[in-house]
Amino acid sequence: MRRDTVAIVSLGAIRDNVSKIRKRLPEGVKLMAVVKANGYGHGALESAATAEQAGADRLAVAYLDEALKLRAGGIRLPILILTPIDPAEVMTAIEHDLMITVTGADWFRRMAPFRNAECSRKLKVHVKADTGLGRIGLRTGEEWEELVPWLLSKFVEVDGFYTHFATAAREDTRFLKRQVDTFLRMKAWSQASGVRAAHYHCAGSAAALRFPELAMDMVRIGAAMFGFYPERLVKDLHLRPALSLHSRLIEVKKLRKGECIGYDNSYEAKEEEWVGTVPIGYADGWSQSLRCSEMLVKGHRAPVVGKICMDQLMVRLPGPCEPGDEVVLIGSQGDEVITCTELASYLDSVSQEISTSLSERIERVYTV
Ligand SMILES: *Cc1c(COP(=O)(O)O)cnc(C)c1O
Repeated sequence: MRRDTVAIVSLGAIRDNVSKIRKRLPEGVKLMAVVKANGYGHGALESAATAEQAGADRLAVAYLDEALKLRAGGIRLPILILTPIDPAEVMTAIEHDLMITVTGADWFRRMAPFRNAECSRKLKVHVKADTGLGRIGLRTGEEWEELVPWLLSKFVEVDGFYTHFATAAREDTRFLKRQVDTFLRMKAWSQASGVRAAHYHCAGSAAALRFPELAMDMVRIGAAMFGFYPERLVKDLHLRPALSLHSRLIEVKKLRKGECIGYDNSYEAKEEEWVGTVPIGYADGWSQSLRCSEMLVKGHRAPVVGKICMDQLMVRLPGPCEPGDEVVLIGSQGDEVITCTELASYLDSVSQEISTSLSERIERVYTV
């Protein structure tokens, strides 16, 4: 290890999580493992290969480049790109056997000059419907009708028709139900037009785990495979976080009452206290917003003190410590545990914002 700060990713946890999720799904439902954003920070290729071993049927990423990296890494499973690609890249998608997301006829019109008409391989598409998230997707019957001739053309294969929920992790399910109804209405449009998508799908992790009856033909599982899910709302399922983050104290000092540390004298010792320096900072993705968070030293919670620097931060220690003593930033030590969920609360966000924020400078080490 070249640096004291290292993220440990348990491929075993990812494998177990995928198998447990799979067991909860109705028979015949396909599992698409979502490994966008470097596998939610866990490593795209490693996460994809592990999901495949654990029985994932398909993969999804956000962007074309992410899909190409998986192909270059030898991943053979079908891959869906969740964000519409540049129409000029249509042949790249076909050549690498990637499935793309389309939201309207305009994309096809802009793509037309770039398609090599000699190519016998079909363009595999998933049509995205916006049923309430307001992000991407077609909304109206007119938009659908305009798209139909393209979807029925010989060079296109419609592998999917899908939508994404806005409130799947919320206790109140009224908006979710409304989205489901809207999606079922749109599904009927597609069937009435003679476009038979091979897979209708709407559920991400939270919806798939809470309401397996919404699984339809396929579920798209990202967060849950890494152990992030609304535990309170999902009974009898124990998924494990796959990532932990470890470091070591590089210096330890004893402060006298009234001594200041950190940029802008951001912390002043209230009494005689021990402070240690940990080699992680905001350039590693450990945001200044985590300034009031804690980490584990000698089995105790140690609060961050002072402003987080670019490459280091300081913590108030439970007592005298030595340089080299282990610090756990995500994970457990003794009886204490710090989860990404806890850390995300400082950002008013979700666990995956913590794991995806960990920058490339933090080495990922894999355990089986
Ligand atoms: C990211 C994403 C997912 C995965 O969602 P999780 O909640 O992480 O399981 C599924 N579908 C779409 C369209 C996404 O963008």
